[in-house]
Amino acid sequence: MRVIVLGAGLLGVTSAYYLHQLGHEVTVIDRQASPAAETSFANGGQISVSHAEPWANPSAPLKVLQWLGKEDAPLLFRIRADMRQWLWGLQFLRECTPARTRHNIQQIVRLGTYSRATLQALRRDTGLDYDQRAQGILHFYTNQKEFDGALKPAEQMRALGCERQVISADEAVKIEPALRHVRAQLAGATYTAEDESGDANRFARELVKLCVAGGVKFLMSHTITALREVGGEIDHVEATDNEGRFQRIRGDAYVLAMGSVSPLLVAPLGIRLPIYPAKGYSVTLPVKDESMAHQVSLTDDEYKLVFSRLGNKLRIAGTAELNGYDRDLNRVRCEAIVRRVEALFPGAGDASQAQFWTGLRPATPSNVPLIGKTKLPNLFLNTGHGTLGWTHSCGSGKSIARIVSGLAPEVDFAFSGDVRPSAAPLSPRLTANR
Ligand SMILES: Cc1cc2nc3c(=O)[nH]c(=O)nc-3n(C[C@H](O)[C@H](O)[C@H](O)COP(=O)(O)OP(=O)(O)OC[C@H]3O[C@@H](n4cnc5c(N)ncnc54)[C@H](O)[C@@H]3O)c2cc1C
Repeated sequence: MRVIVLGAGLLGVTSAYYLHQLGHEVTVIDRQASPAAETSFANGGQISVSHAEPWANPSAPLKVLQWLGKEDAPLLFRIRADMRQWLWGLQFLRECTPARTRHNIQQIVRLGTYSRATLQALRRDTGLDYDQRAQGILHFYTNQKEFDGALKPAEQMRALGCERQVISADEAVKIEPALRHVRAQLAGATYTAEDESGDANRFARELVKLCVAGGVKFLMSHTITALREVGGEIDHVEATDNEGRFQRIRGDAYVLAMGSVSPLLVAPLGIRLPIYPAKGYSVTLPVKDESMAHQVSLTDDEYKLVFSRLGNKLRIAGTAELNGYDRDLNRVRCEAIVRRVEALFPGAGDASQAQFWTGLRPATPSNVPLIGKTKLPNLFLNTGHGTLGWTHSCGSGKSIARIVSGLAPEVDFAFSGDVRPSAAPLSPRLTANR
């Protein structure tokens, strides 16, 4: 089949790779000049199955209320006259019950475990190098209440097969000696030895090289303006290239992987996707003092920041602001991150050379991504990965490639639509090359 992948972020690139592996003729379209140039550009770098507790959980409504209007809050709703934001907020509240939280953790852990194993297999098969580290992820807590609150979700994750172990402050310092400076402030920690980290942008660029070598076509600097439906299925994509030339691009099947822009493209087709942009920040610092710098990937739960070591750079990322598609850098937020880094690891990074970045996470109210079928038989979804798009990229890419091919996915997950192989075989018209 000819498959058109819409978007060349982490989810589009991994979809393209696995579709090509299954023998399809794949074309990827993206508005940027290079792949992974938007939300997949400078994320926190964590492959964190253990980061499975969704934003929507029983303690979230009170916290979100307390954080309203606080410029440096970890999760900030900037209330706007935006119906999509309000609807998203209501759906978010619905996901905060204990039962929904348990269900969502289950989905996130299952997909995460499968995805991490798929990434490891890909690395073995291809030898891809992207500053990866397989040293686990350590969540540390400088607040006793936050630590106590983390014990139950950690237990649930262990029951689901994610080995997130509760450890003492001393054990945490043994695993990551750079934490010694704040030893007295540590209430406790958890450690997941199987988790990993790596440069997601470099990974995507390396994977694109493999795809191109295999014959996948990338139409970069092409802005998609519409998906056109004829006779109950997608007939073509409309796009303009960087010289303003209008194009119609046809395929047999289409995979929507346009991150936080995804809902805007399919709304005219009557497909409502509960995705809203959640702006996050990252700071990248060159290592200044190796003896103070962290090696292991870390999560600071109180400040909702993640720390990864990418070669000789420190990447710190986090915070979320629901404020439409605005990507402006807010000085207060940038400085709050640098202050926290300096408090934890004084002198480790060179703050004078800090590179600040913002990206829009394609967030669903449940933190569970949208992967699978739509009401149109040749339009598929691989989007809405929110906080965990890097962690979930390989598993989602491989799953959507199997679903498009009429094969059963290899993981038990709440996919969209009926994805049983016998439930909706592709029609002969769709399987024949047009
Ligand atoms: C601060 C921050 C830290 C994060 N840390 C982590 C982490 O540690 N671990 C983790 O697992 N995840 C993390 N994430 C989440 C992860 O980065 C995202 O979930 C992931 O990058 C989303 O990828 P995507 O392919 O869906 O979207 P994108 O990367 O945004 O890709 C969508 C693509 O669609 C293209 N596009 C959009 N509109 C159009 C159009 N009209 N025409 C053509 N092309 C178009 C864009 O150019 C873009 O390339 C973090 C995110 C942020 C913001």
